[in-house]
Amino acid sequence: MYLRIDRLQIELPAPKESDPNAAAAVQDLLGGRFGEMSTLMNYTYQSFNFRGHDRLKPYRDLIANIATEELGHIELVSATINLLLTGSTQPKDPVDAPLEPGKDVRSTYHFISMAQTAFVGGSMGGFWHGDYVFNSGNLVLDLLHNFFLECGARLHKIRVYEMTRNPVAREMIGYLLVRGGVHATAYGKALETLTGVDLTKLLPIPNIPNSKFPEARKYEQAGVHRTLYRFSPDDYRDIARIWRGPAPTGDGDLVVADGPPPGGPVPVLPPLVEEFAPGLGPEEMAELAKKLAAG
Ligand code: MN
Ligand code: MN
Repeated sequence: MYLRIDRLQIELPAPKESDPNAAAAVQDLLGGRFGEMSTLMNYTYQSFNFRGHDRLKPYRDLIANIATEELGHIELVSATINLLLTGSTQPKDPVDAPLEPGKDVRSTYHFISMAQTAFVGGSMGGFWHGDYVFNSGNLVLDLLHNFFLECGARLHKIRVYEMTRNPVAREMIGYLLVRGGVHATAYGKALETLTGVDLTKLLPIPNIPNSKFPEARKYEQAGVHRTLYRFSPDDYRDIARIWRGPAPTGDGDLVVADGPPPGGPVPVLPPLVEEFAPGLGPEEMAELAKKLAAG
C-alpha cells in the first residue's frame, strides 16, 4: 500500500509568463514512450509481479522503491506542465473568445479537455499506453530493460531541455536528469551482482555528463546523484545491499537516505473562469468554506 506526502520532490520556481508550447513539449516527459508514466508503471508492475522475492528481496526492494520515487516524478512533471500553462488566457465574456490563444498553440487538447493542465499522454497528443510496460518475469531481462528505459528517458529529457529555455521546465529536467542517473546506476549495479558485468561503464548515455547542465550541477553538488531515497516508513531496507560502495562519479560513496527529500510546496493553481474550472465563484467558495467548517 501507499502513504502520500503533499509535497513535490523539489521546489519549482514561480513562472514569469505562460509558455503553452513548452508545456506541450514537456508532455513527452510525462506520457511519452520514455516518460515518467512509463518508468512508474514498468517498475510498479514488475514489483507487483515479482517471483521469489523472499530470496531475492534486495532486487524487489530496489524496483519497488524506485517505482515509488517515480510516482513523485509524474507529480513533478505534471506540476511543471500546469505552471507552464498558467496565465495562457484571461477571463473575458465567452462571446469575446477568451480561449482564443488556445487555438494557435501546439496542444489544443490542453485547452479543450484539460482546462490548461497536464494529460496522460505525449507531446504529439497520443495517450500513454499499457504496452509501454515490459515485464517478462525474467529478472536479468527486466533489469536490463529498466537500465535501457532510464537511458532512453535521459536522451528525451536532454532533447526537451535543448528545446526550451523556460526556467521552470529546466529546473524540473535538471533534477530528473540527476535522479535518472541514480536509477540507471542502481539497475546497472543490480545487474552486476547477478552477472558480473559492470553496465555502469556504459554510462552516461548519451555521452554528456549531467554536470554540463547548470540546473543538474547544483543537485550534484548537494550529493543528490549519490543518494537513493528510501520511500517508506520502515520497509525496502535491502536497497542498501545494492546501493553501496563508491559512486561512479568518483566523488564519494553511495548512500541510502532514510526518507524522502525535503521537497517543496505543491503550487496552487488559480481558478479559470473562462474554462469553468473549478466552476465555483469566489462567493460560492467562501460560502462552502463556512459550511464545511461548521461541520
Ligand atoms: Mn523518473
Ligand atoms: Mn527513473
